[in-house]
Amino acid sequence: MAEAKKQLCMICAKPSTKTICAACSERLRGEALNKKKKEEKRKE
Ligand SMILES: [Zn+2]
Repeated sequence: MAEAKKQLCMICAKPSTKTICAACSERLRGEALNKKKKEEKRKE
């Protein structure tokens, strides 16, 4: 059974209208800023 194109957030895997839901999008933005500022930890 294939549901009609249900998109999931690629970060939290919750149903979202975008590839990345608003919450994660904001979080990512914050993390990106943090990384640029600190750049102490590198997760791979
Ligand atoms: Zn998300």
